Amino acid sequence: MTIERSIAAFARARNVIAGGVNSSVRAFKAVGGSPIFMKSGTGATICDVDGHAYIDYVLSWGPLLLGHAHPAVTKAVTAAVARGSTFGAPTEAESELAELISSMMPGIERLRFTSSGTEAAMSAVRLARGYTRREKIVKFAGCYHGAADAFLIAAGSSALTLGVPSSPGVPRGTAADTIVVPYNDADAVDATFAANAGAVAAVIVEPYAGNMGLVLPKPGFLERVRAACERARAVLIFDEVMTGFRVARGGAQERLGVRPDLTVLGKVIGGGLPVGAFGGRREIMEYLSPDGPVFHAGTLSGNPLAMAAGIATLKVVREDSALFDRLEVMTGLLTEGLSEVMRKHGAPHRTARAGSMFGLFFTREPVVDLASAMTSDTALYAKYFHAMLERGVLLAPSQYEAAFVSTAHTTRDVERTLAAADEALAAIATAAP
Ligand SMILES: *Cc1c(COP(=O)(O)O)cnc(C)c1O
Repeated sequence: MTIERSIAAFARARNVIAGGVNSSVRAFKAVGGSPIFMKSGTGATICDVDGHAYIDYVLSWGPLLLGHAHPAVTKAVTAAVARGSTFGAPTEAESELAELISSMMPGIERLRFTSSGTEAAMSAVRLARGYTRREKIVKFAGCYHGAADAFLIAAGSSALTLGVPSSPGVPRGTAADTIVVPYNDADAVDATFAANAGAVAAVIVEPYAGNMGLVLPKPGFLERVRAACERARAVLIFDEVMTGFRVARGGAQERLGVRPDLTVLGKVIGGGLPVGAFGGRREIMEYLSPDGPVFHAGTLSGNPLAMAAGIATLKVVREDSALFDRLEVMTGLLTEGLSEVMRKHGAPHRTARAGSMFGLFFTREPVVDLASAMTSDTALYAKYFHAMLERGVLLAPSQYEAAFVSTAHTTRDVERTLAAADEALAAIATAAP
C-alpha cells in the first residue's frame, strides 16, 4: 500500500504544526509508521489522500454516530452557515438542542454548552468545587476527562500511550488536589472518603471507561460510588462525553440505572462539530453565573453550526426507537466475530462491548482496570492495526482506545472486517520471527 501523499503531507505539517498533528494520538506513535491523512468520508467509509478507502471504526473518536456526512446533518449545517455562523448572543437553537438532550438523558435538568469535552469536564469540576466549597476531586486511573490540568494525573488516552502519566506543566498543587484510585475499586473510593473527610468536592468517572480501551464497570461498582458520594455529600460526575448517545439513548446513566449529580457531554451531541456540555441537577447548575457565583463563559459556546449538527443528529436518535437495538446487534456480530477469529489463530484476547462501543485487548487476563489493561500485548496490537489498515479497515492507532460502530455500518461491512481480521492474523503469524 503506498501512502506517499500522506507521508508528504505529514512532512509538510511537521514544518509548521508542532509534531505535525493537533491532537497527540493522531501521530501514530503507539503503532509506528506515518499517520494517514484523510480527505473525505461518507457513511461508514473514510478516504485518505492517496485514494484508499477504509471501513471506519474510529469515527472521529466517537462523535459520528450516524457516520460521515449524514444527509440530515449536512443539510442542517449548510442551512445554518448561510444564516450566519456566530452571533455571540443567545439563539433558539441552543434551547432546542438542550431540550432534546434533557428529554432523553435522565440526569439533565439544566445544562450549559461549551466547545469541547475538555472544557465541559473542567467547568463541571469548578462548579462542583464552588457548590461544595471543597477542593479535592477523585478520579480513576485510566479514565480520561480531557486535557485540563486537574485530569492529567495518571491520565489514560494518549497520555497513557505516550507514557506520560502526568504531564510536565501540571502544577504540583493541582496534582495534590486530584486523588487517583483504580477503576472498579469501590473499596478504594470508600477508603479515600474516609481519609479525606469533608474535603472531597466530586468524584468523576467514565461510567463505561473508554479511554484505556473499553473497560466495563463491575456490577455494583457505580452504585457503591453513588452511595459513597451521597454519604459524603460530594458531587458525582459522570463523564459521558463518549458514552452519551453512544451506549444507549439516555447514555450509561439510563443503561445502568445510576443517576449522577452532574453529567459531562461532548462528541455525539455535536454531530461532528465542536461541542461539549455539562449539566445535571438544577440546584447545582444554578450555582453557575449569571444566576450563581461560579464563572463560566465561551465566545463560541452554543455555536449555531454546532447546534444545527447536534439537533439533526439527536432528532434521528429520538425518532428512531430501534436505533440503539440495531447498533447493539451490529456491534455484537462484530465483537463475537472478532473473538472467533482470535480463537482460530490462537491470539490471546479479551473483548468488551456496550451499545455501539467495543474493545479488543490482546491479553488473557480479565480487564477490569488500568493495570490489567496494561497486560495487553501492544506490539501485537501495532501489527494488527497495520495489517487491518492494509486491508481497508481503520482502527484507532493505539491499543488503549475504544472502537465505534455507526448507524451507517452494515452486515456487509462486518463480514469484510472479519475477513480482513482473519487474513491479518494469518499474515502476522507468517511474518513472526
Ligand atoms: C473525548 C473525551 C473527553 C474530551 O473531549 P474533547 O472534546 O476531546 O475535549 C473527555 N472525556 C471523555 C470520556 C472523552 O472520551
